[in-house]
Amino acid sequence: MRPSARAAALEPSPSLAVSSEVRRLRALGRDILDLGLGEPSFPAVAAAKRAVVDAVARDDSHYGPSVGNAELRAAIAAFHSERHGSRLAADDVVIGGGAKPLLYQLLQAFVDPGDEVACSAPYWVSFPAQVALAGGRFVPAPADPADGFIPRAAHLEAVLTPRTRAVIVNSPNNPSGAIMPPEEVEALVRLCARRELLLVMDEVYDFLVFEDRHVSPLRFRDLHPGGIACVGAASKIFAMTGWRLGWCLAPGEPARLLGRLQDHVTSNASTLAQAAALAAFAEGLDEARANVEEWRHRRDLAVAGLRACEGVTVVPPAGTFFAFPGFDLGTGRPVDSARLAVHLLREAGVALVPGAAFGHEGHLRLSFAASRDTIARGCEALAAEMRRLRRDPERLS
Ligand code: PLP
Repeated sequence: MRPSARAAALEPSPSLAVSSEVRRLRALGRDILDLGLGEPSFPAVAAAKRAVVDAVARDDSHYGPSVGNAELRAAIAAFHSERHGSRLAADDVVIGGGAKPLLYQLLQAFVDPGDEVACSAPYWVSFPAQVALAGGRFVPAPADPADGFIPRAAHLEAVLTPRTRAVIVNSPNNPSGAIMPPEEVEALVRLCARRELLLVMDEVYDFLVFEDRHVSPLRFRDLHPGGIACVGAASKIFAMTGWRLGWCLAPGEPARLLGRLQDHVTSNASTLAQAAALAAFAEGLDEARANVEEWRHRRDLAVAGLRACEGVTVVPPAGTFFAFPGFDLGTGRPVDSARLAVHLLREAGVALVPGAAFGHEGHLRLSFAASRDTIARGCEALAAEMRRLRRDPERLS
């Protein structure tokens, strides 16, 4: 059978490729320190687990509204409004099966073949594929490594053309951990309003912040009515990655269109996951906060460990559970991140994700979602291998 040109052009997800190599090496008996993970090592918050058992017992098993249950939509609107001053109502919220499908559907709703979508870089690995699946052209807007990869409105403005239809920013950012400052968020909203562009803000790491707070563009919604869509999920905040529950906050036209798409594509997100998320918002936030405090320790451990490595530079991430260090083998040439990641996995038993997957060479993503022990031992193994590589860069396999 001949696949569609769209499907045939899809590359496998680079982060999933690292996980499958980790599984392969472990099956051969190798001890691998996995710092490539993209999900919390914590269990799902206890309130969510209790609620799902109750939901099964009362047979919460039937179709619901495809945009999600009214109670959960209201709870998410209230949570975001209090945190961000976004003044949302339940009708502005569309619940879906994770942030990933909602982002996909947004692009399906607003991008026609040949349209351009600008995206701050480094970027989450699925954005280019999702833009391509909508027939659009993905246009990266690089942030400056010397500025800690902070996404700024000027980077996006520099790549806009008359064909641009939408702008995507992910803050707090996977892979860099950088947060877009409030004045930049406001400038970006003004820019998108002036150029009549949909602004998509991926806020899945909103709650995972250490010092600075992420400011949602919906705080400035009056500057661009009906032109902002913010996507979040229970995946990271409540450690519910496998439950598949996300939301899109999009007052006006975007929420209406998304709802219509969902009617025909997915129908409602799992009723059980919705019951779990409702309980997590009501009773699970203290546990989620405690997880963030643990991540803060792990971040400090990872940054100290990376700083002890020869040839490695790192900006402490302000949010997420990722750091995005730069690697220099002292050859005067930029490092090929994919080659280095494979080398470190095979020679040092440490799994990291190559920066090329996120649109930025010379860097690797380290996840501190792993345990403290894995982070400490991983950084030691990395330091030892970097010493060897800097002495003899020809070792790079
Ligand atoms: N957006 C970003 C930036 C992510 O890192 C991820 C997951 O890793 C997602 C979206 C997808 O989230 P979900 O698991 O809720 O679909």
